[in-house]
Amino acid sequence: MRRARSLKNLWDDVPLCVRSTLGRGLGLVPLGLLLGREFQNSRAFVREAQWWPAGRAREYQLARLREMLTLAYEHTEFYRRAFDSVGFRPQDLRTLDDMTRLPTIDKSVVAENLADMCTRSVDARDVDYISTGGTSGTPLQFYIDASRSSVEYAYLTTSWERAGYRLGMPMAVLRGRMVKPDRNGLCHEYDPILRHHYYSSFHMTDDNMARYLRHVRGIGPCVLHAYPSSAHALAGHMLAAGEPAPHNIRAIILESETVYPDQRETMEKAFGVRVFSSYGHSEKCVLAAQCDHSQDYHVWPTYGYFELLDERGTPIATAGQEGEIVGTGFINTVMPFIRYRTGDHATYVGERCEACGRQHTVLRDIKGRWPQGGLIAADGSVVSMTALNVHDDTFRHVREYQFHQSSPGKATLCVVPTITLDAEEKRRIVTNMNKRLQGQVVLDLEVRTELVKTERGKQPRVIQKCDSPSESAVEARETA
Ligand SMILES: [Zn+2]
Repeated sequence: MRRARSLKNLWDDVPLCVRSTLGRGLGLVPLGLLLGREFQNSRAFVREAQWWPAGRAREYQLARLREMLTLAYEHTEFYRRAFDSVGFRPQDLRTLDDMTRLPTIDKSVVAENLADMCTRSVDARDVDYISTGGTSGTPLQFYIDASRSSVEYAYLTTSWERAGYRLGMPMAVLRGRMVKPDRNGLCHEYDPILRHHYYSSFHMTDDNMARYLRHVRGIGPCVLHAYPSSAHALAGHMLAAGEPAPHNIRAIILESETVYPDQRETMEKAFGVRVFSSYGHSEKCVLAAQCDHSQDYHVWPTYGYFELLDERGTPIATAGQEGEIVGTGFINTVMPFIRYRTGDHATYVGERCEACGRQHTVLRDIKGRWPQGGLIAADGSVVSMTALNVHDDTFRHVREYQFHQSSPGKATLCVVPTITLDAEEKRRIVTNMNKRLQGQVVLDLEVRTELVKTERGKQPRVIQKCDSPSESAVEARETA
């Protein structure tokens, strides 16, 4: 991947040994200072803007949308054609509702029109090329401002503060980073600038997890920043081994995968702290983080313009209704994403959070639709994982599970057990799960020692090999 020479990219390219020597000195400097002026300004803005009344946020959105639409119309062939086709000029945007006059785009539109969607030369030093997509789902390539990282990081760190994170606090990170064993055989790497302790989510054996936890106990007050599947594996190990939670972990921050309610429950039980999750994607159109006082998500109004649309493309304004997340990002000025359909879904709650008073759009049940969203029934319908949420004792001897599906109506339930399962126990698990699926999908069982991970170290709940039912396939969502 060709990357621009932003400060963050330069730091990532410094060899580990040099980084650690340099970092020892830099580690004494407050993190906010090290991350630079743009980060500090963005952070100050984000911390204040989250408390704006809705009217002020709307004014801000309208001003930013006018800028983005003008930029897109005047500098890209794609958006000029798209706006002209519906007789729209950027100056026609008088209220936020006028946005619905513009057509939506999705991943396939971006793939077909990449060259015509850029506002300037992508060979510039301040432009990054992004390529997302793991072993499953449709990959996506696009261009973005190299300076996005400091703005993005300001939003993320401010979101994390709701969970108890403080800038400069160490983080124990289990998020798919390739970490080589150190001289003691521990898969651990330390970034003294960000104060991140990286552990390998590709080596989650009982032995290694015990070592990770032992190491985490020594890093002082910290938060665990993880893929839901990695934190869940750690929680499963702790419960099975009767290992107490490291008392210095203040919160668990989850990103990049759907968090299932049963995973959340297991983690909170094992760690005894709040599990906090946020929603975002590499395209940088919408960022939503959980409330400090409830499980609901707040959409950041200054990060991008958010819409929730039903199947006919009509905006949803009724509490309890589910729709597709559509966003117009304010961060990417190299390749504007205007009314971008993410393929992800959420349930609408309202425009104000009663628990904290923030006047933000409130959502719950955010989920990627495909392929991690569910199993495909014989009739082609999708059985959501939420429907399969297991609250009884079906998985009393199962640490982790994953569905593998290669044809509609049939799937294999792969389980990593905590004990050796006898024939009767296996039959009990399959019968319980099949009862739950009511014949839509028929399961068989396979016992494994580990489950399938993507090349980024994520562990999807469903490994889906059926043909995608639509063009707008969603791979596991990326944050940051
Ligand atoms: Zn709230």
